[in-house]
Amino acid sequence: MERRIQKAAVLGSGVMGAAIAAHLANAGIQTYLLDIVPHALTEQEEKKGLTLEHPAVRSRIAAESKARLLKTKPAPLYSKKNADLIIPGNLEDDVSRLKEVDWIVEAIVENLEIKQQLWKKIERFWTEGTIVSSNTSGVSINKMVEGRSEAFRRHFLGTHFFNPPRYMKLLELVPGNDTDENVIAFMKRFGERELGKGVVLAKDTPNFIANRIGTYGLLVTFEEMQNGGFGIEEVDVMTGTVIGRPKSATFRTLDMVGLDTFVHVAANVHKNVADEQEKAAFVVPELLHKMVEKGWLGDKTGQGFYQKK
Ligand code: NAD
Repeated sequence: MERRIQKAAVLGSGVMGAAIAAHLANAGIQTYLLDIVPHALTEQEEKKGLTLEHPAVRSRIAAESKARLLKTKPAPLYSKKNADLIIPGNLEDDVSRLKEVDWIVEAIVENLEIKQQLWKKIERFWTEGTIVSSNTSGVSINKMVEGRSEAFRRHFLGTHFFNPPRYMKLLELVPGNDTDENVIAFMKRFGERELGKGVVLAKDTPNFIANRIGTYGLLVTFEEMQNGGFGIEEVDVMTGTVIGRPKSATFRTLDMVGLDTFVHVAANVHKNVADEQEKAAFVVPELLHKMVEKGWLGDKTGQGFYQKK
């Protein structure tokens, strides 16, 4: 039987999860968007004795999720109507929905142990044939599914989208040691034809290809800014439009990515490479740690290098 992706589930509804769900909706795919954070009843709903399963509560939650997506800039959806293809939920109550889907893509926090725990849980609700993938920026694909069944590992790979997924053309596919050749070939075709991406195959090395280079570039720029006593906006201008790159070249990009995510991504290379010189190049600057501790995570908290208007 020819494989098709008609229904999908995205796990994690943060910066990337919500935007990946939007791009799948752009391709006409009905998508569950499931997070660990449970939705809460309003005071009124509680007074009425409603539960989270009540259709009125579900449609209020769906409307709120749609409104958030429609407010996101740059717009992740081709058309407002596509938002109706996204069904928000949570991983406790809605986990059995995973049995309905053709592809499960994970976009939760960049942490190996948390991702391993999630896949352990998901395998119990996984149906053979369903493709499973991680949007990790660089955590090991093989390590993430250690302990999972061989059948699960045959269907598992990295599908690394770039931010914002509607606009960034690159999709890195990262097969694990056991990923089925047919799954890789299918996802390559699907990524190119249905999602409009330029697909490259990457090896399962820390941060794969684009992020290994990109993270290094950002860290060097950061160091040079401090050495040269430049300002944030100056660097964004010098590394942006004046040399033909987008306005959001350096620090605006970091704000969009999320400083917490960037710290995890850079630390991943530092922790997992053997070469001492390369290790040293991926040390996270103290200032970034301090900003994360203060909750200055970028656009998602309203304050990063810039204050979000
Ligand atoms: P984020 O912090 O914006 O969102 C993470 C979401 O995951 C949150 O909504 C959180 O509630 C949820 N979550 C945490 N633990 C969970 C669990 N156990 N089960 C279900 N949901 C859980 O993070 P993000 O920026 O969207 O990054 C998600 C993934 O995508 C990471 O692996 C990251 O490296 C990768 N990525 C991020 C970017 C980027 O620019 N931010 C780009 C490419 C890839």
